[in-house]
Amino acid sequence: MSARFERIAVVGLGLLGGSVAGAARARGVAKRVVGVSRGRDTAAAAVSAGLADEGTSDLAAGVAGAELVVLCTPIFAMADTLRRASGQLAEGALVTDVGSVKGALVETLPGLLPPGAHYVGAHPMAGSHETGLRHASKGLFEGAVCVLTPTAATAPAALARVRAFWAALGARVVERDPAAHDAEVAWVSHLPHALAFAYAASLAAAPREAFALRGSGFRDFTRIGASDPELWADILATNEKALAGPLAAAARSLARLADALAAGDLESVHRLLAAGREALAAANADARSGGRAGNHVAHVAAAKE
Ligand code: NAP
Repeated sequence: MSARFERIAVVGLGLLGGSVAGAARARGVAKRVVGVSRGRDTAAAAVSAGLADEGTSDLAAGVAGAELVVLCTPIFAMADTLRRASGQLAEGALVTDVGSVKGALVETLPGLLPPGAHYVGAHPMAGSHETGLRHASKGLFEGAVCVLTPTAATAPAALARVRAFWAALGARVVERDPAAHDAEVAWVSHLPHALAFAYAASLAAAPREAFALRGSGFRDFTRIGASDPELWADILATNEKALAGPLAAAARSLARLADALAAGDLESVHRLLAAGREALAAANADARSGGRAGNHVAHVAAAKE
């Protein structure tokens, strides 16, 4: 399936949008890459940085004639953006996106398309705690997993074309049912961000002198706690249902650790930490084997309960 497009439009020129446009241009995925921003200056900056061939703040003009439109706004803005763009979409146009939660988008976006256009949800597992065009990188998707979330209603030809697009940006494309995607990213992305933000918020109670003693453990644990609060509030709230279980499990682990420490029960403390380390090793082994090693994490965690 060819990944070559005549014209693609990337809407929302932040970290992800700038990176999608830049990668598409650098890899010759489209004859013309159009960057669409709410701000004229941002659109112009994307062109001067070599991330897009054209830039515009006119959404309708930007998407007109595009074979593929990539929505790169925050999740909460995607439906409204597509609604406003929809009248200009070309016959047979493809729409994909980068939103971090898929269930809500897969439910809403297809209904906003004109007849003959197709939506295929996507979530590239690549990003940063930084936001904005100036942090965009055309190499962002190289080797990264990109999850596509087709449904029974997705046209096979549209899926194949969108798959070819993300693969052409350098991503390793996998497919998931939208609900399974949301449940899985709740564990591996949204829970770690929630914990890092919660820890960072708790630092208000720390003595100021403590910060002079920061080392690599602090740096490793807190990087993602410095992510954009607005973007992450949007992601966590949109995935609230799938995130509730993982949040409760983490709260239980923390409470068990606190209880064992308070009771001076070193054996339980050790067991909990060892179970954590084993679960991490199993998760990494599963990922390296592409899931063929089976669900070791669940086995290890269950054995240690
Ligand atoms: P970002 O750098 O803040 O970019 C988002 C862009 O969307 C903004 O630069 C802005 O572009 C546009 N935008 C912001 N508010 C808007 C609104 N109210 N209406 C319309 N457009 C608006 O954030 P990002 O990290 O690229 O995230 C964008 C999407 O990628 C999100 O849906 C997120 O879930 C997903 N994602 C993020 C990561 C990550 O690690 N950050 C990873 C994977 C997926 P203009 O000013 O050009 O209009």
